[in-house]
Amino acid sequence: MQLEGSCHCGAVHFTVASHTPYPYMQCYCSICRKTAGAGGYTINIMGDAKTLKVEGQENLKIYRARVPVPGEPGKTTVSPAHRHFCGTCGSFLWIADADWPQWVYPFATAIDTALPTPPEREHIMLNHAAPWVHIPEGETEHSFREFPELSIEDWHKTRGLYD
Ligand SMILES: [Zn+2]
Ligand SMILES: [Zn+2]
Repeated sequence: MQLEGSCHCGAVHFTVASHTPYPYMQCYCSICRKTAGAGGYTINIMGDAKTLKVEGQENLKIYRARVPVPGEPGKTTVSPAHRHFCGTCGSFLWIADADWPQWVYPFATAIDTALPTPPEREHIMLNHAAPWVHIPEGETEHSFREFPELSIEDWHKTRGLYD
């Protein structure tokens, strides 16, 4: 589906095509929580990078977090994830990841198009969740201490929701 998104102040608008628009994956890691997660988590969906069109590009800023180097305690490196946000109002808009250049990962919160309601949800990176955050439980709620088992693409495909 074609998605339209924008920041709160309107300085940045964007459109992107997505085969994977279900906002099912809630990430509780410290980067998501602190930068774009008032509920304790944020949700990124996925779109086709070559279809991304941006109005107000000059208002964008990019945040690249420092992240731990696996297997090297105490060492950090700059994340390949480029978190794009509006320099005026601070709305987080999408992530572009240098390791996955064919995709962009819009923040569901920035999308103005009505997204479909996910039939189930995944709660990921729970090892990093803040202690006050409520993690929903039940048949449709799936929890992961770190990364989930399926990619966003495979999650949609295995549920017949990829279009
Ligand atoms: Zn803005
Ligand atoms: Zn995260």
